[in-house]
Amino acid sequence: MAGVQEARAGGLNDCQGTHRRRRVLVFPLPFQGHINPMLQLADALHARGLAVTVLHTHFNAPDPARRPEFRFVPVPDGVPADVAASGDVIGILDAMNAAMEAEDSAALRDVLASVLADDEQAPVACMVFDANLIAVPRAAAAVGVKTLVLRTTTAACFGVSMAYPMLHQKGYLPPQAGATKKKMRNLLVRAIEAVNDSSGLVINTLDALEPAELERIREELHIPMVLAPGPLHKLSSKSTGSSLLDEDYDSIKWLDMQAPESVLYVSFGSLASLDANEFLEVAWGLETSGHPFLWVVRPDSVRGLDRPGFPNGFEAAIEGRGKVIRWAPQQEVLAHRAVGGFWTHNGWNSTLESISEGIPMICRPQFADQMMNTRYVEKTWGVGFELEGELERGKIEKAIRKLMKEREGAEMRERAKELKKNVADCLRTGGSSQIAIDKLVHHILCL
Ligand code: UDP
Repeated sequence: MAGVQEARAGGLNDCQGTHRRRRVLVFPLPFQGHINPMLQLADALHARGLAVTVLHTHFNAPDPARRPEFRFVPVPDGVPADVAASGDVIGILDAMNAAMEAEDSAALRDVLASVLADDEQAPVACMVFDANLIAVPRAAAAVGVKTLVLRTTTAACFGVSMAYPMLHQKGYLPPQAGATKKKMRNLLVRAIEAVNDSSGLVINTLDALEPAELERIREELHIPMVLAPGPLHKLSSKSTGSSLLDEDYDSIKWLDMQAPESVLYVSFGSLASLDANEFLEVAWGLETSGHPFLWVVRPDSVRGLDRPGFPNGFEAAIEGRGKVIRWAPQQEVLAHRAVGGFWTHNGWNSTLESISEGIPMICRPQFADQMMNTRYVEKTWGVGFELEGELERGKIEKAIRKLMKEREGAEMRERAKELKKNVADCLRTGGSSQIAIDKLVHHILCL
């Protein structure tokens, strides 16, 4: 691979004046939607000749055996067992950051110091960390490691977060009561500070999707570089390897037997859940639609239940036409010729993966950036529509028909295929995403 040769032999490495290999530390936020893009970025850097060490928490730790090309180093996360089990993302994040930056805890700093002191490994060039790990910059500065930030949401979302401290300071935001809201505000403000104090920002998006949003960020931030090398899963040579749950590959065999563009893929990502009644309505809505479907039902998909139970008669009714699995090899599913639509919660990874394969969407956002992603899918790119209001089987059936059978859905599919071409152009040699990743490698070697 040309990039590897260059980075090792001095081409891209001209800043360094040595031929020694360099190492990048990556520290993902330990949730699926954050681990995936960070390890995909790590793949792209590794393919260009950089060694990679993955720092990870005990909570949601990745399996090192699945990625033998990387070194894995644990960082004590200090998340109490009850908080970890609660599924409260903000609570987990807050506990993690608080533990990592507590005065009496030098855990992260000590881990970094020992990684730096390891003479047997290539010297560390920098650390790329997830924007939400706000405790990282201080520990990195204490041991002299330069940092870059990875944002795993859109440029639009980051642009909005950038305005947040100012809006808050001027009192334009409604007063927010409650501990979670305060934690959230603190996180948003400090995540922006972390970017401003870093040597660069990498956003998992691409110029073809968000030109104006990226331009605004580049104008407003005073940091050495803002890069958009997305979609990162397409720069990585691996389509799996960072899943916390085992992917069900029987689903691919099942898709092989279905007609082209006939299947609706249904998944609400790794965190979003339904209440018991919504779950019932989704099940019967899928059944009565008469369409083939592949539905991901995680063990924790239904709030308050350890394991969702299907309504009486459901499994018999869908036999041969519908398949339910615990976890999908999603990128392969979306790339399969049999898939013609995606009912999604619009997590940014899922949205980007869908766009990259030209698949139109039914959108059912729940929290965080998902509502904003839905808005872009519907209003800006025109490749899907929101299923609003209460979940009810008749409405679900209608939405599925609109996406899979009617003219409006067909038009969305056409636009999605056009977007897919734009994504492919960015990924071609000389395309904006390839240029961005090469710039990033050069930048890292010059730090
Ligand atoms: N995913 C998967 N199998 C599934 C469902 C999801 O591999 O059955 C992956 C998906 O490809 C994506 C990630 O999990 O990369 C979910 O991230 P996203 O940002 O879409 O949503 P989140 O889980 O963070 O809400």
